[in-house]
Amino acid sequence: MAEKKGGLGSKMLTKRDFMKVSGLTVGAAILAVGGASTSLATTGSVSVKKWDYEADVIVIGTGPAGLSCAAAAAESGASVIAIDANNKIGGKGILSGGNLGIGGGTRMQKDLGYVETADIIYEDRTVPNLRTDATMKVDTVDNRKVTMGMWRKISGAEDGEGMARAFADNSLDTWNWLDKMGCAFIKANVSKMSQVYRGSRYFTTTAQTLVDRDNGKPGDLTSGGAGIIWPLYDKAEEGGVEFMLSCKMTKIIREDNGGRVVGIEATYNGKTIYMKGKKAVFLGTGSWNGNDNLKQLFLPWLTRYPHITGEPYVKNDGKGIEAAIAIGASLSTDRGSDWHGWHRHPGSLWHRSGAPFGISGFEDGFLDSESIYVNAEGNRFMNEEIGEDNPAWVGGSKPFYFAQICATQTTDKDGPVVWIIMDETSRMKQKLEFKPGENVETFMYGKGNTLEELASAIKVPGANLAASVKRYNELVAKGKDEDFGKQEITAQIIKPPFHAIKWGIQKHNTLGGVTINPKARVLDWNRKPIPGLYAAGESAGAMDLIGLARPIVFGRIAGLTIAKEEK
Ligand SMILES: Cc1cc2nc3c(=O)[nH]c(=O)nc-3n(C[C@H](O)[C@H](O)[C@H](O)COP(=O)(O)OP(=O)(O)OC[C@H]3O[C@@H](n4cnc5c(N)ncnc54)[C@H](O)[C@@H]3O)c2cc1C
Repeated sequence: MAEKKGGLGSKMLTKRDFMKVSGLTVGAAILAVGGASTSLATTGSVSVKKWDYEADVIVIGTGPAGLSCAAAAAESGASVIAIDANNKIGGKGILSGGNLGIGGGTRMQKDLGYVETADIIYEDRTVPNLRTDATMKVDTVDNRKVTMGMWRKISGAEDGEGMARAFADNSLDTWNWLDKMGCAFIKANVSKMSQVYRGSRYFTTTAQTLVDRDNGKPGDLTSGGAGIIWPLYDKAEEGGVEFMLSCKMTKIIREDNGGRVVGIEATYNGKTIYMKGKKAVFLGTGSWNGNDNLKQLFLPWLTRYPHITGEPYVKNDGKGIEAAIAIGASLSTDRGSDWHGWHRHPGSLWHRSGAPFGISGFEDGFLDSESIYVNAEGNRFMNEEIGEDNPAWVGGSKPFYFAQICATQTTDKDGPVVWIIMDETSRMKQKLEFKPGENVETFMYGKGNTLEELASAIKVPGANLAASVKRYNELVAKGKDEDFGKQEITAQIIKPPFHAIKWGIQKHNTLGGVTINPKARVLDWNRKPIPGLYAAGESAGAMDLIGLARPIVFGRIAGLTIAKEEK
């Protein structure tokens, strides 16, 4: 059926939504319930007189966590409504690289001769510095200098609520489930880093697939993440899950006196609606990345970065976490998130188009030894090597220091303003082609035949920029960076034209959120499960593991558990 391949789903969903709202049909998974004159549920300020929709489970968010919960619950016979505040399926997951840290003895690992068991995964997540290949010493891994084990030490490396054990024990089944539903896994990478931060030593990569598969044409945005999201979506659809997009949960409804969570309030088509979860409500609303309160709590200096990573594909304003706290959920700290989950992309389109990296070829930094970074005032302000091959680089948190130092500089609406300045000799040496509007956003690139011209192109004070370059050239001649201590200063910035490329710095992942237990049940401040409320993914805390693995493993656990709940 043509419509079934729903792409971003707008066509299909619009039609379905019409059917629901007009009452022309009542799907197996949905009953439009109305007419009751007494309150059906009350909690605090919410008094529900009429449920507009009901299903066994209301899934909030259609990222990897929500889709995994929806697909698993539906597969086990539960009726499911999955909503998303966005008008697209997939959350941040559909923008992701699709590098999946789930293993435990998969067929691909076996084919490649890698040995990984649930116990190895558990050990890697919990025992600091146990393994000789993951010690605190600085090592060269994947061509980078890293301090293995450091992140786990910082984050405590304990097993919280038993989450690491549950993750390890459910990994293989989850991977096999994804494999069977058609995720196009293409290879397994051996990575010592991966054990620390992604959950499996041999994580799988997924073949790139069109993000907008409905309307996609050659050259459109593709991602590995889409290669996981679309099979999950198809599986959910096949199980009868009803999707409602542009539908934002505003409140979670819990019966008074510490009773069950019975449903949610949401806004949909400009109206306030009430949706009943007969068995449960699942929270899969993703990161706190766009929530100033939670930023202040978890990582105050991140308030200097106003963007929400993944916009416009996600609406991660952290309000889902707030809604759960409002009905008694406890919050788990964001251990490790400050260290982890940072990426930086020169000239990236990330915040304009939602493209993860946006441009081809510039995912990594340029030669730091031949360029300087200047701020909005045109002044050099840091050792450009920091965050690149600094020993503190811990499994992917490369730009952590970089991002933190940048946060001390002048910001614009996107965050700290940082320009990479290089000359023509360096550009040619690195074989870089800057094509504004094509491979680099026009507002993120500037060029000038003189430094004054360049300064005017990027709107920084010309005298300061010229002074910064002059000083740097003197330091190169001396062979010593007396100002910031950069180790390698190999080339002066002298040959026109001069180039400036703006850094785009993103926080890809966050870890803190509502506390969950190994069954993905949300815990209150007495560490007791809140009846009827489940969560997974970035909206949930309680485990230091970034990326897709945590949402998918615990989203699936939630779906399987909810399906067995009494109504
Ligand atoms: C560019 C990029 C690349 C990445 N690459 C990788 C990678 O290669 N490997 C890896 O493991 N991880 C990667 N990640 C991280 C990974 O994508 C995330 O960890 C994962 O998507 C989180 O899943 P989630 O379901 O918890 O949240 P999300 O994917 O953020 O989904 C949450 C959904 O909830 C919706 N929502 C929010 N609030 C509400 C509300 N109130 N009502 C209704 N809906 C709501 C949002 O719109 C969104 O669709 C990457 C991230 C980015 C940004």
